[in-house]
Amino acid sequence: MASILKLKCAICECEYAPDAVTYTCPRCGMIGTLDVLYDYVALRARLDRDLIAASPLQSMWRYLPLLPIETDAVLPPLRVGMTPFYHAPRLTADLGVRAAWVKDDGLNPTGSFKDRASAMVVARAIEKGIRVVATASTGNAAAALAGIGASVGREVLETIIFVPASAPEAKIAQLLVYGATVLLIEDTYDVAFDLCFQMCLEQSWYCRNTGINPFTTEGKKTAAYEIAEALGWDVPDVVMVSVGDGNIIAGIDKGFYDLHQLGWIERVPRLIGVQAQGSSPLVRAWQAGMSAADMQPEDAHTIADSISAGLPRDRAKALRAVRRTRGAFVAVSDAEILAAIPALARLTGVFSEPACAAVYAGAKRALELGYILPSDSVAFVLTGNGLKDVRRAQESVAGGVRVQPSLDAIRRALEK
Ligand SMILES: *Cc1c(COP(=O)(O)O)cnc(C)c1O
Ligand SMILES: [Zn+2]
Repeated sequence: MASILKLKCAICECEYAPDAVTYTCPRCGMIGTLDVLYDYVALRARLDRDLIAASPLQSMWRYLPLLPIETDAVLPPLRVGMTPFYHAPRLTADLGVRAAWVKDDGLNPTGSFKDRASAMVVARAIEKGIRVVATASTGNAAAALAGIGASVGREVLETIIFVPASAPEAKIAQLLVYGATVLLIEDTYDVAFDLCFQMCLEQSWYCRNTGINPFTTEGKKTAAYEIAEALGWDVPDVVMVSVGDGNIIAGIDKGFYDLHQLGWIERVPRLIGVQAQGSSPLVRAWQAGMSAADMQPEDAHTIADSISAGLPRDRAKALRAVRRTRGAFVAVSDAEILAAIPALARLTGVFSEPACAAVYAGAKRALELGYILPSDSVAFVLTGNGLKDVRRAQESVAGGVRVQPSLDAIRRALEK
């Protein structure tokens, strides 16, 4: 394990001892999300990237020496991480870039990138002897916590989920199937989030909420490690990812930051975050040069439910990720997101939910705006499986032709 050196606030940069704080910076409040930092000099002397790359473990736990968990910890048994990373020649040609790859995180056990964070939080909860973990979520983080929780068993860990009652059916079904305690809150994600956190404080449940729990990014950073390792530690110029609360982009930034501190990569990729137009506070804050602390809550409306966030909870780290890597934030319309679902599926064979497909529309916008150049190599983080939201997928394509059961009728239908 990597022993944590300190927790550091992303806003005021105050430092805390590893066990001094559980959630956010006491001085800054909820905006003060914490970085989990290590003694990189000591790690550098002790670790070898080739040894890690030689690990037989085909999951995120191959990076255990860089994760905040004991080496003999009880790990959730589901295989999280080490998702496929495909070179995508037709996507490369379609975009007109030097190279494009897709990382299919929809193949995680519960179908989204969120499994990385939930596996990390559950492993830590078990290590600390915690019996109840709760989260608020637009759906995928909840499914991830419920699924990883089920994999260790209800006797070990109980999971309590706060989701907006409007979450897609498949996502709610998944929670119930896994046996989580599910509260369908008849309001927005933002409201569910605050209620969950208050209940956690009141009941002493461990809170997995995005942007509150500093360990979610420590799980999510493993995707950056995997991209770097897959490319022989020669990182792409650009990494594209869709952004709601900003925790995934923060995690990917943290992963490349760690590797750079260790001297295992020579530079870090530019991170480009994609938001839906109807939920794009980070795009505007970035364009205006605004600080995270000055951002105000607003209404969010988009079909891409997983990136609908009126006040992104991890806004401090998300803005920092884009600023310190010289990346960008772009916004795309719901129509562009819908059209991106079949476009990306036909170019790569990967079926994405709306929030995930948004990265393809975002890359087109980033090319128009000059944030991606034709000479760039680009890795796409595909965050969620298309089966998560079949209704939107159906809206994105023409209906299919009804045919009478005869060869004649089939031939006529095919001629059209
Ligand atoms: C959660 C999620 C995102 C966005 O992640 P944030 O940390 O909220 O920015 C993107 N795509 C999918 C499929 C997600 O579930
Ligand atoms: Zn602070």
